[in-house]
Amino acid sequence: MADLHSWHAPVRDLLFAMEHMAGAGTLEGLPAFADFSMAFAASVLEEGGKFASGVLAPLNRNGDRHGAQLENGVVTTAPGFREAYGQFVHAGWNSIAADPAHGGQGQPLVLALALQELWQSACMSLGLCPLLTQGAIEALSAHGTPAQKATYLPKLITGEWTGTMNLTEPEAGSDVGALKTRAARAGDGTYRITGTKIFITWGEHDCAENIVHLVLARLPDAPPGTRGISLFLVPKFLVNEDGALGARNRLSAASLEHKLGIHGSPTCVMQFEEATGFLIGQENRGMACMFTMMNAARLNVGMQGVAIGERSLQQALAYAMERRQGKPFGLQHEMREMLPIVQHPDVRRMILTMRSRTEASRAICLATALAMDLARHHPDAAERGRQRAREELLTPIAKAWSTDGGFATASLGVQVHGGMGFVEETGAAQHLRDARILPIYEGTNGIQAIDLVTRKLALADGGALSQLMDEMKETAQQLGRTQALKQWQAPFAAALDGFAASARFLTEKLKEGHPGDALAGATPFLDLAGHMVGAHFLARGALAAESILSAGTGNQAFLSAKIVSAEFFITQLLPVAAAQASAIFSGADVLFRATPDALGPI
Ligand SMILES: Cc1cc2nc3c(=O)[nH]c(=O)nc-3n(C[C@H](O)[C@H](O)[C@H](O)COP(=O)(O)OP(=O)(O)OC[C@H]3O[C@@H](n4cnc5c(N)ncnc54)[C@H](O)[C@@H]3O)c2cc1C
Repeated sequence: MADLHSWHAPVRDLLFAMEHMAGAGTLEGLPAFADFSMAFAASVLEEGGKFASGVLAPLNRNGDRHGAQLENGVVTTAPGFREAYGQFVHAGWNSIAADPAHGGQGQPLVLALALQELWQSACMSLGLCPLLTQGAIEALSAHGTPAQKATYLPKLITGEWTGTMNLTEPEAGSDVGALKTRAARAGDGTYRITGTKIFITWGEHDCAENIVHLVLARLPDAPPGTRGISLFLVPKFLVNEDGALGARNRLSAASLEHKLGIHGSPTCVMQFEEATGFLIGQENRGMACMFTMMNAARLNVGMQGVAIGERSLQQALAYAMERRQGKPFGLQHEMREMLPIVQHPDVRRMILTMRSRTEASRAICLATALAMDLARHHPDAAERGRQRAREELLTPIAKAWSTDGGFATASLGVQVHGGMGFVEETGAAQHLRDARILPIYEGTNGIQAIDLVTRKLALADGGALSQLMDEMKETAQQLGRTQALKQWQAPFAAALDGFAASARFLTEKLKEGHPGDALAGATPFLDLAGHMVGAHFLARGALAAESILSAGTGNQAFLSAKIVSAEFFITQLLPVAAAQASAIFSGADVLFRATPDALGPI
């Protein structure tokens, strides 16, 4: 019997998605990435895969069973976490994409994101710790003073110190502008931060010697709402001028949350009592800084959706190949042996849904990271601008669609296991529990959909979307020109028409002053957008696979499986998603016709 908890790093799939779906080969010629090549990426991912499967993956169950404990203000993480995190730092995995000026390795974000999938698949609760640190590195790199960068970046980049993101308060969740944490000017250039933050991931722990909290707070004379929010760096231990750790700051973890999943990740209520803070960026401009941090974190959370999907898929497939039930339809009396369930059409349908959706999400996330790399490092300014718009357009799709997909895939993983999926011993249930947070944190998926419709569709005067659609039209034409894939052109083109019409409808509703009708269609529109963009990347992968196969090279089984995934997704899942256009066009009327008390007993 196979070990149902085992997981192998999908290095070949990651490389294929990077190169043939997202197009990461374009980085090879850029001066900023002189050391980067796809061959180099392959060797890094190979090593990363060994670390993830050998060191991190065995801790996944431990984290779930033991969780983190808080005693007298000290958080102790699950057995093995501290040592594994130490090895992660020692091996240099934290610094892959960071700036060499502060000790980073200067590799592309797309490679760092591919590695991110491995850490998150192996052990999501531990993987969250460096994920949050990346956000702090991004915010400090973009908005910190030279002195702040010199003091904090090198240790954050190695991972010796970790970072957190402190936005949420009891009265301020999705509506960050409602936050009440206070910042007072101390008169010496520093600030005194007072307030309570809730749900702070890795807010306190025993894996690093210092924790750098990035905290949103409000000055006494700040304007109301998001225009009056400032961002502060509030370290657990203050740092002396010589870089050594100084006095303990006035902040602590008041309690830990008991959660549905990710038990190994300490989720803290943080108390700040006149803690010393240092302003990042300008007063009252904290939201701009926070968005830098959140954009990086949102993409990484999207990749968590891919990661949990891949892990669920691998376990479900292993189980489906071993578990025997039923006989072929119509041959129940002739056959003596029961079939492995993977031979039943409905189980195949579940496995292919899991696989194709995971592959589509992976491509979207990697393409978003590639756009980030090009937006920062392409030599041509106009191209940098286009790529920035592409990055901004894709980020809410990468976050929301990949995490909805991660949860849906983990749920199918339970279904493939039957009753054994509902009990804890196979591990399928843990993936489902762990996956459930992904559509909630880093901005709920509902908020991502609103962002897509109200801000991103209009980016560059609609140019970001129309450029992407032009590329999709080109994909449709290429499908039509490829004998073996010709029959996919019709469903692809029909869905693209529906997608374009939906985008036009929502944009018009906003322009006409009917935001309610646009917001009512936001979530189905994001789902359609995810399917459409995912289909585009899967088709690109299939076209590449087809051409490699026609040349008589490459691994036939691997490439044929890529074509099968794309065919299943484009001919079976995409048309269902496209049918959501009718929900998008229906506006807000049906949602509001009944009064809330008529919807159910209150
Ligand atoms: C395990 C965990 C870890 C977390 N880690 C962190 C962290 O490290 N740092 C941090 O700052 N926060 C963190 N959070 C908080 C998380 O980001 C918030 O829970 C999330 O943003 C939603 O806020 P809320 O819980 O207040 O829900 P609400 O804002 O109350 O939302 C409830 C529901 O209403 C919907 N909704 C709200 N407003 C609107 C609107 N305007 N239009 C349409 N729908 C709306 C939401 O989509 C949601 O479905 C974490 C949460 C959890 C559970």
